[in-house]
Amino acid sequence: MKESYVGVAEMGAHREGTLHKLLEVNGQAEGPSYDYDLIVIGGGSGGLAASKEAAKLGKKVLVLDFVVPTPLGTRWGLGGTCVNVGCIPKKLMHQTALLGQAIRDAPKFGWRLDENAIKHSWDTMTEAVQNYIGSLNWGYRVSLRENSVTYENAYGEFVGPHKIKATNNKGVVKFYTAERFLIATGERPRYLGIPGDKEYCITSDDLFSLPYCPGKTLVVGASYVALECAGFLAGLGLDVTVMVRSILLRGFDQDMANKVGEHMEEHGIKFIRRYVPSRS
Ligand SMILES: Cc1cc2nc3c(=O)[nH]c(=O)nc-3n(C[C@H](O)[C@H](O)[C@H](O)COP(=O)(O)OP(=O)(O)OC[C@H]3O[C@@H](n4cnc5c(N)ncnc54)[C@H](O)[C@@H]3O)c2cc1C
Repeated sequence: MKESYVGVAEMGAHREGTLHKLLEVNGQAEGPSYDYDLIVIGGGSGGLAASKEAAKLGKKVLVLDFVVPTPLGTRWGLGGTCVNVGCIPKKLMHQTALLGQAIRDAPKFGWRLDENAIKHSWDTMTEAVQNYIGSLNWGYRVSLRENSVTYENAYGEFVGPHKIKATNNKGVVKFYTAERFLIATGERPRYLGIPGDKEYCITSDDLFSLPYCPGKTLVVGASYVALECAGFLAGLGLDVTVMVRSILLRGFDQDMANKVGEHMEEHGIKFIRRYVPSRS
């Protein structure tokens, strides 16, 4: 059924061809009118790019973006995974690890450092990372406004073929209609589905703003996200073990994947292979 609100009389008129005539205004067939030409659900890399392009082509666009908090209560601003809990914070934490490596190498090249005074502060790093992300969140909002895209921090759910319900974090509900929708909702990390997973484990969604240094860490999984997190945590000096169910970096060239694994082992990261956790 296309339009749930279409009644029996209208269906009859549609079959007889009179409905089309009834909708003609001054001889011009008028389509249904909507609040927006396009509603984009999801304000990540995909949704933001698409919404701005559509607006540049003259479309009236609304973006709905809403972050469902993690079990730990972590939430973040506009920009989606890459900006808030993906590429950006990950690269900054890699950079932190590389700086530590450079400091350790520096004396060999003539820098005189007091080795005992060199300490890393997790709090300072996360604060710097979160401040940088905050500036990007703001930049994205400004850029939407400059491109005449309306933004709402609300969770979208379809309630009809052209109608969406938008609920904000205070529970305020609004309804919008659009001719077209773009679903750009991305993905979130999956929990293990074992007893204690949500109580005792965190995901990458929590790591980049974690208010304390995680210390000795078991990384479960061997995707690129898992290995990259293991890499920078070890680079910060933590004792890190990776639990691998089968292979490293499934879907990637396995010669390269194994070289990555060997390189990580040479740098002190331990691997437990062919194991999966059953409880935590
Ligand atoms: C740790 C990590 C590191 C990464 N590093 C890289 C990298 O170096 N290079 C790279 O290319 N990629 C990297 N990625 C992948 C990259 O982040 C994603 O591919 C990209 O962010 C996907 O963009 P998207 O727009 O499809 O979805 P997302 O960025 O996930 O955006 C979707 C948005 O929609 C919101 N949303 C979901 N449902 C609704 C709803 N019903 N209503 C309203 N809003 C909703 C979500 O909260 C989110 O804000 C990394 C990912 C992770 C986790």
